Amino acid sequence: MKIKSVMLKFKCKDVGFECSFVAKGKTEDDILSQCANHAKNDHGMKPEEITDELRNKIKANIHKSWF
Ligand SMILES: [Zn+2]
Repeated sequence: MKIKSVMLKFKCKDVGFECSFVAKGKTEDDILSQCANHAKNDHGMKPEEITDELRNKIKANIHKSWF
């Protein structure tokens, strides 16, 4: 049986933003770095505003899909 690869997805609106951004990647770190860029570029957040609490919130809202 072939091992399926997992795709991780995160929707910005799942953490309370009015936003249609979706991050897709293979690893949590990949998602988190995309979110950090997105938060900075599209929400005008400063690096110090991307706290561990926010990271944990993002991690808790990452969905896995198998294909
Ligand atoms: Zn957003």
